[in-house]
Amino acid sequence: MKTAISSIALAMTLALAAPAFAQGAPTVADADAFVARAEKEGFDFSLYAAQVSWVNATYITDDTDAIAARVGAQGTELAVKYATESAKYASIPGLSYDTNRKLDILRGGLVLPAPTKPGAAKELNDIATKLGSMYGKGKGTLKGQPINGSDIEAEMGTNRDPELLKEMWASWHDNVGAPMRSDYAREVEIANEGARELGYADVGAMWRSQYDMPADDFAKLVDKLWLQVKPLYDGLHCYTRTKLNEKYGDGVQAKTGPIRADLLGNMWAQEWGDIYPLVAPAGAGDIGFDVGELLKAKGYDETKMVRTGEGFFSSLGFAPLPESFYQRSQIVKPEGREVQCHASAWDLDNKDDLRIKMCTKINANDFTTIHHELGHNYYQRAYNKQSYLYLNGANDGFHEAIGDAVALSITPEYLVQIGLLDKAQVPGADKDTGLLLRQAMDKVAFLPFGLMVDKWRWGVFSGQTPTSGYNKAWTDLRLQYQGIVPPVARDESKFDPGAKYHIPGNTPYMRYFLARILQFQFYKAACDIAKWKGPLHRCSFYGNKEVGARLNAMLEMGASKPWPDALQAFTGKREIDGTAMIAYFKPLMSFLKTQNRGKTCGW
Ligand SMILES: [Zn+2]
Repeated sequence: MKTAISSIALAMTLALAAPAFAQGAPTVADADAFVARAEKEGFDFSLYAAQVSWVNATYITDDTDAIAARVGAQGTELAVKYATESAKYASIPGLSYDTNRKLDILRGGLVLPAPTKPGAAKELNDIATKLGSMYGKGKGTLKGQPINGSDIEAEMGTNRDPELLKEMWASWHDNVGAPMRSDYAREVEIANEGARELGYADVGAMWRSQYDMPADDFAKLVDKLWLQVKPLYDGLHCYTRTKLNEKYGDGVQAKTGPIRADLLGNMWAQEWGDIYPLVAPAGAGDIGFDVGELLKAKGYDETKMVRTGEGFFSSLGFAPLPESFYQRSQIVKPEGREVQCHASAWDLDNKDDLRIKMCTKINANDFTTIHHELGHNYYQRAYNKQSYLYLNGANDGFHEAIGDAVALSITPEYLVQIGLLDKAQVPGADKDTGLLLRQAMDKVAFLPFGLMVDKWRWGVFSGQTPTSGYNKAWTDLRLQYQGIVPPVARDESKFDPGAKYHIPGNTPYMRYFLARILQFQFYKAACDIAKWKGPLHRCSFYGNKEVGARLNAMLEMGASKPWPDALQAFTGKREIDGTAMIAYFKPLMSFLKTQNRGKTCGW
């Protein structure tokens, strides 16, 4: 899973100023003064909130939980008040570009806005806390025995018994999702009222408004991107279904139609990399080395893995990380206390007190994750001269995509350059199918899931999906976009969306879809700048200072300009575009076409 950045987005000011316009209509000067005050107080509060969050995440006790909850509630409550006040200035004529943009950020920056009526913020917060806790404590069963969330996720990745997979899928969705249903409906009702007070049609429209374009245009944009990359997904779906049919037989997975959701190695069928051994093509499937084994053979420890990631950014011309990064980060899981292991990147002082929090293991997956997290850190430092409300990515997809674009550059040739792999071990072009298929099982398989989660929520928030149809709408979207079906019958006593963390956790999801598309666009732009010749997926832009300079031009803008401006600074283009992803997987697409010949693809 990908992670959130530090908590600054939530953090707002402790001290609430009196309304700036006691009498008469607010003026441009009032708006400017309000924004200046919000920035100053927001900056100060964010330092304190980040310290509290860090201590809580790396030293979990009842006490640090209580302190973090209190600061979180303060932040939310104050953010609501700021959003409400900023809405009052929104329509003043003659506002400067920056004041206007910052008012928009303040007004729309909340994930779940509470209405101002007494008691509403508390009720909303109580429900959100309850749902989060229900998810965290949730258990499924395996052979009738309770099994917790992280264990059941791991088991879904390795277990190949279709009856046990079905049991785990059904028990998790029944036990965790279903009990949330009525609370979730109430949460939607309250938050929508809050969104309307702020001038949005509903919460979904508020979320879509964060992309520098009208909310409806953003919905059209993601549909367009999906149509660009869909042929790749369709080919992968068809090929994977054939392999699952060969493995399990017609009684479990038919040769045609949708795929049974529990057979794809992941509770949500969102990334399929764990069943790569089932689909690996004979001969081309084994690339001949494993990065984790290489790291171990060369005596790398966890810190050296991080320093290697830092080395990539240094090779592009970025300044080294401060020594405090290594003193203060949680790189290895500490002994003797509870910590959050979920990988994340932090900026504690909005300047250069950068840190990561991981429980790093010496394997290929964590080597990639380190590059992802460092991408957040270098972004945070690059925009640290911007004013407080611009200390953010150009949009939320950008922040997630930077490190992933760098990680795509961990090619066999790059591993030779840094002395991890012998030149003689670099796999030939005959292994490309294996390299690309392994990547596609995660990155391509994710696309329709990344899209449908918020398509479901947009429908729920707008009322297009009635409360009585929550589960059907979810199952329908899963079928429409992913081509999958639940392994057991579902009805409206269930609430399958609740069995995915980001629904009870109220984390907008479209950022992950955008990030999957953007990372290939960034990667291809870097390879073009580096004048790479050859198949795109073999390109590494390690050591290229011009790439670093162009990348920095985008990163240092933070959120100060509309995202097309930032995209243009690096890539020369203003449109998000899925064709780079298609170009990257071109050899795989040919392979899939050949393999799928004569099959009835689609569902
Ligand atoms: Zn991330």
